[in-house]
Amino acid sequence: MDKIILLGSTGSIGKQTLDVCRAHNIEVRALSANSGVELLEQQAREFSPEYVVIADEDFYGDLKQRLSDTSIKVLAGEKGLCEVSALPKCKVVNAIVGMAGLVPTLSAIKAGNDVALANKETLVSGGPLVIDAVKRAGVKLIPIDSEHSAIFQCLQGAGDNRFSKIILTASGGPFFGKTRLELAAVTKEQALEHPNWDMGEKITIDSATLMNKGLELIEAVWLFGASPDEIEIVVQRQSIIHSAVEFEDGAVIAQLGSADMRLPIQYALTYPERIECPAKKLSLTELEQLTFGKPDEDTFECLAAAKRAIVKGGNAPCAVNCANEAAVRLFLENKIRFLDIGDAVSGALENVKFIAKPTLYELKSTKKASEEFVLKKFGYSK
Ligand code: NAD
Ligand code: MG
Repeated sequence: MDKIILLGSTGSIGKQTLDVCRAHNIEVRALSANSGVELLEQQAREFSPEYVVIADEDFYGDLKQRLSDTSIKVLAGEKGLCEVSALPKCKVVNAIVGMAGLVPTLSAIKAGNDVALANKETLVSGGPLVIDAVKRAGVKLIPIDSEHSAIFQCLQGAGDNRFSKIILTASGGPFFGKTRLELAAVTKEQALEHPNWDMGEKITIDSATLMNKGLELIEAVWLFGASPDEIEIVVQRQSIIHSAVEFEDGAVIAQLGSADMRLPIQYALTYPERIECPAKKLSLTELEQLTFGKPDEDTFECLAAAKRAIVKGGNAPCAVNCANEAAVRLFLENKIRFLDIGDAVSGALENVKFIAKPTLYELKSTKKASEEFVLKKFGYSK
């Protein structure tokens, strides 16, 4: 198996990736985190990588000091992330949260490394740049996001038959069935209670607003070359059917499993092989029921805005993504209300300057403009 470079090793996906590495003695050449030096040090001592990278340079001195009795090289910043992503003949697992994962992903691809991608904001913000780089380098981009892993798995063995539809499932989050009036007063603590998945804070809020499904729709457009109207979003409350594809003849192939990210993570590492996995096996007879429904896009306006953004194209998906990142940060700091997140995302789509074919530099300016738009909207601009 390939040696791996794990970006974002201290997060929810990062820790579960290390569980899979532990179970199969997979060699880890580099680990990285944004700030949590204590856990990063612990992981470095257990997995003995050649490199660790701390993205926030303020913590470099502390980490360097902590690992001074080892031969592990300590790097910092986006430059450090790009350097380890380009180590030859490795698979890069990108478990960073947010658009911060885009540049390291491009670095990995350009160096000829396959990428196992959890970091959906990378594809949402820079889809065309990433897909173009993948084609040029001839590398594999393997999804970790459970729905996209499911679609990827359903397409194995399809040969030249293209899907006629992608059925992207959604849990509906903690507020499924609620009205806008009921959502007006929800707290951060309520939004952080996801019914099925235990995840990082940002994606948990995205699941509550349904922005996560909007981001995933855009992710599916780029990963599978689908047009937005070929993707149907179906609420599957139990998170057992992770997604499905429909073919021309009406056959629907779905992937089912317990709600445990270690399965899609491991498949991205072992693909195309399948081996024993630490995730709990599914027992169909223990399931009481599987239910299906439609998402309510009037109440959950983030989803509607994300759809409009991918239809608009250019830098619009990047703008809604970055506005969402900024709004979620403010919500987690108790500075704005739950429904303000949707207003921020819709507002950024209307107000951030449109660029039809953005370069990387223009995507970075779009990020800045979207963040400034959100801070100003809620009276927090510097
Ligand atoms: P998390 O917040 O738990 O972990 C994020 C990791 O990224 C941490 O190691 C953190 O230190 C690092 N990081 C944060 N900001 C950074 C920056 N600016 N530069 C470099 N590193 C930075 O997040 P998570 O829940 O593990 O999610 C990671 C990604 O995977 C997200 O894109 C999320 O949407 C996606 N995803 C997560 C799950 C899940 O179950 N957690 C499922 C599907 C997809
Ligand atoms: Mg998902």
